[in-house]
Amino acid sequence: MNISMTPDEIQQQPFFHIPFWRAPEDELFTARARRLNHLARTIAVADSNWAHYLDLLAAVCLAQEDLCQKLTVLKPVIKADVLPLSPDLIDQYAPSWPQLFSHLHQAIHTRLTPTAQRVWQELLALPLSEQIALLQRARIHDLTLAEQDYTIWLNALLQIVYTRAAHELHEEQITPSAEIGFCPCCGHDAVGAVIIGQGELAGLRYLHCDLCNSRWHSVRARCSFCDHDHDLGAYRIETTDNEVLAAAEAECCPQCHGYRKRYQLEKQQNADPVADDLATLALDVLLSKDNWQRGGVNPFLLMA
Ligand SMILES: [Zn+2]
Ligand SMILES: [Zn+2]
Repeated sequence: MNISMTPDEIQQQPFFHIPFWRAPEDELFTARARRLNHLARTIAVADSNWAHYLDLLAAVCLAQEDLCQKLTVLKPVIKADVLPLSPDLIDQYAPSWPQLFSHLHQAIHTRLTPTAQRVWQELLALPLSEQIALLQRARIHDLTLAEQDYTIWLNALLQIVYTRAAHELHEEQITPSAEIGFCPCCGHDAVGAVIIGQGELAGLRYLHCDLCNSRWHSVRARCSFCDHDHDLGAYRIETTDNEVLAAAEAECCPQCHGYRKRYQLEKQQNADPVADDLATLALDVLLSKDNWQRGGVNPFLLMA
């Protein structure tokens, strides 16, 4: 091997296979629930509203896992020039939505505030066609101001169907997207990224989709918004003794002035781009003061 090669060049050798796409991990929602409970105990102030919120989300995740396992799965139809998990998936799963809505509500209703109870009663009272229309708009972050209270619940439901459907796919069925920051599986904007901590993929960056929970490789030296490849910065809070915060970084691009958060799995092997995002908002606050523009929407952050 030519020792003058860079890590990227080594990884481009034909004998080194980098999986471009990785299906959602088995029992991902259970792992996320454990992570959220851990973050509620270690990051949030004890008994604070934020700690209760993280614990509520953990309960949502456990219900998601249960519903994901029980979901009647449709075989994905792969067509040229169409995303494997297209927006049509919401219509295709129309028979499943009534049960998903009612079962998710049943699983968490004892934990809901009176306001959230009211929101759920509104959702449950809607005809299926309107529930589906809301799900379609939630998928593309296009809910009206009056519908914002539905965001977390609609996204939790969408995640169940899209994640379960992504489990049915294989790497060879996925075509890389021209826009690297968007999921090649369902088209959603990446909520964040992880840097793999160990094994032969150590050091590689995988972007994470919060909708279908699949991950795709993208070269770490390039901006995931504009593909710029010079002087990308990785900002972190250096002074913290908090291990969760120490594992979080923001990839900042001097060209487009965007940033996306990523998590060093070598430091926090159970970091989850959806859960840890909620526990590392201090990083976003610091970056927003310098006018960096965040990329990657976390639907669980909108309600907070
Ligand atoms: Zn996706
Ligand atoms: Zn950029």
